[in-house]
Amino acid sequence: MRVGVRRVGDPGGSAEAPFSRVYMNGRLVPAVEARVSVFDRGFLFGDGVYEVVHAFGGRWLDMNLHVGRLRKSLVAVGIDPAMADELPRAARMLVGDTPLDASIYLQVTRGAGSDRTHLPQAGLVPTVFATLSQTESLAALRSTAAPPSIRAVTAPDSRWLRLEIKSISLMGALLPLMDAQRHGAGEVIFTRDGFVAEGGSSNIFAVIGGELVTPPLGGPPMLHGCLRTRLLSVAIANGIPVSVRSVPTAELKRATTILSTGSRSLIRVVASLDGEPVGVGAPGCAGGTSIVSTLWTGLLDAIEEDARRIGHSS
Ligand code: PLP
Repeated sequence: MRVGVRRVGDPGGSAEAPFSRVYMNGRLVPAVEARVSVFDRGFLFGDGVYEVVHAFGGRWLDMNLHVGRLRKSLVAVGIDPAMADELPRAARMLVGDTPLDASIYLQVTRGAGSDRTHLPQAGLVPTVFATLSQTESLAALRSTAAPPSIRAVTAPDSRWLRLEIKSISLMGALLPLMDAQRHGAGEVIFTRDGFVAEGGSSNIFAVIGGELVTPPLGGPPMLHGCLRTRLLSVAIANGIPVSVRSVPTAELKRATTILSTGSRSLIRVVASLDGEPVGVGAPGCAGGTSIVSTLWTGLLDAIEEDARRIGHSS
């Protein structure tokens, strides 16, 4: 595949080389040879930041502003801010002395771990990738009397509220999760407008007033967890009183028991919330414990039963 393009107004194609190479971790390589680990957190989680800068005749427009913004983005997501210097460096290496009309796209990801874990492993080395694309020259732009026109539509700003989509863009969840880790917590419970939504990578149940309670799918946006569905049917099959309703955050804090659920983790009992032990002094504490053990046994029984059935039918 050839990704080289010719600069506008350049009959000889001398600009081809800059466009056919990309910048990867400090080196220029042919685009077709550039490689990133499948465990790169940019690929797995969208865990990275980027910048785009425009050059006219080889001169970068507002490079300082872009480097400053990149540094701020890096600081905000906890990636080494020194990586901001990669932007002018990549631009220099990709363009050289050529008076190109081009834009540079540069992204810095948190790097590649040895496994897919939401929380980044220690000591990751950021991945830096940059590529050029061709743009019009100032002369070409000047030859048009006015800027180009486009059509537009309005849309409610739902960036990013589509949490029912199991999107790989997880930066929004990762940052609070990393913050939770800094406070010694293994999960974050998101709330919206005073109501419980879901965990960073789980759904939330609570035992309140002897009932197993979980937020409804039509409430604050959340992922429609498969284990949530499974656990609700296990609870009903085992005669546990269930209430699918909105849960005010204040009520969660008074719960006898809080559970975080997911297909991989199954059930985790939340022992403390915001530093306070869960259930201590809450009415019906023992009831919460027995509900959890019924749910746990019921879930494991259901899994075993399913495995047996699938085994027989295959
Ligand atoms: N909510 C979020 C944000 C998740 O990431 C997950 C699992 O990854 C869940 C809920 C639980 O979903 P499931 O039970 O389908 O694993």
